[in-house]
Amino acid sequence: MTATTHSPAETHSHTHDDNGSALGENATLHEPISPDGTPEPGRTYTVPARCGRAVRVKAGQTIRIANPHGTQVCDTWIFNAAHLNEFLSFEHTRAYIDRVIPRPGDPLVTNQRRPIAELTADTSPGVHDTLIAACDLYRYRNFGVAGYHDNCADNMRLALKAIGLRAREVPQPFNLWMNIPVKPDYSIEWLPAVSKAGDYVDIKAAMDCVFVFSACPQDIVPINALHPVEVEFTVLA
Ligand SMILES: [Zn+2]
Repeated sequence: MTATTHSPAETHSHTHDDNGSALGENATLHEPISPDGTPEPGRTYTVPARCGRAVRVKAGQTIRIANPHGTQVCDTWIFNAAHLNEFLSFEHTRAYIDRVIPRPGDPLVTNQRRPIAELTADTSPGVHDTLIAACDLYRYRNFGVAGYHDNCADNMRLALKAIGLRAREVPQPFNLWMNIPVKPDYSIEWLPAVSKAGDYVDIKAAMDCVFVFSACPQDIVPINALHPVEVEFTVLA
């Protein structure tokens, strides 16, 4: 039998005690917004297509996440900057707000059931997803992709690593602008975003946080109109 090189993803092997290590690499690892993720207030940063970025947001600050083309899904995570094992948890948030998708005025709560942030503004029709896991290398393997495919789970891990941090798990992201309608029979569909170019959401931090964004590289199902592009964020001055 010919020896072959296996990536961790091909074997689904568990070589770590947690889920914090990326299964591959892209430019995300080498392009932090600053060495420790501290932003310049008022400056707009780009999350390039298929990549991720991490940014520190202090309690009371608001971060604006924008969708310049209107077509792009942005996976969003929020971690407690002091303890990355506390993070925005949608299992807990859905129970806290009695809704599947937050609206402006809704708190976003952690796995310790306390607000970590609040959704304060949304210029889009409010169609986001809180049900679907971040895409990961296994997802693309299941689609038949050979070799590495950029993915949101690794973008989160790489964006954190780029500023010297590491989380043990990849929590359920706040999938901004991802259009996953739940039908009356509780089946779902995977549809393009309904947002328009320039739409944004504002999220106000309730504690010192690390936000992580991934401009989702999904190019097999049409959630990004089959053409992943960039998103932007600004910590408002
Ligand atoms: Zn993705």
